[in-house]
Amino acid sequence: MGKTLKLTVKLKACKRCHAIVPAHMKVCPKCGSTEFGTIEGMVVVFDPERSVIAKLLKINAKGIYAQRVRDR
Ligand SMILES: [Zn+2]
Repeated sequence: MGKTLKLTVKLKACKRCHAIVPAHMKVCPKCGSTEFGTIEGMVVVFDPERSVIAKLLKINAKGIYAQRVRDR
């Protein structure tokens, strides 16, 4: 059955910690930053201790993050 998953929630990413949050959020739930940008690529971090990407992006918790955050 080819059901397509539709993204109904608009998302944006925190410029400081790269967390992906719903577009209506005013403050980042992870770091408290109020600066957001457009998501450019997504990264799923399972093991932040060993992930090279997690180190590059300074991520220290499991989750889905924006690879890059672009200015709007
Ligand atoms: Zn943040």
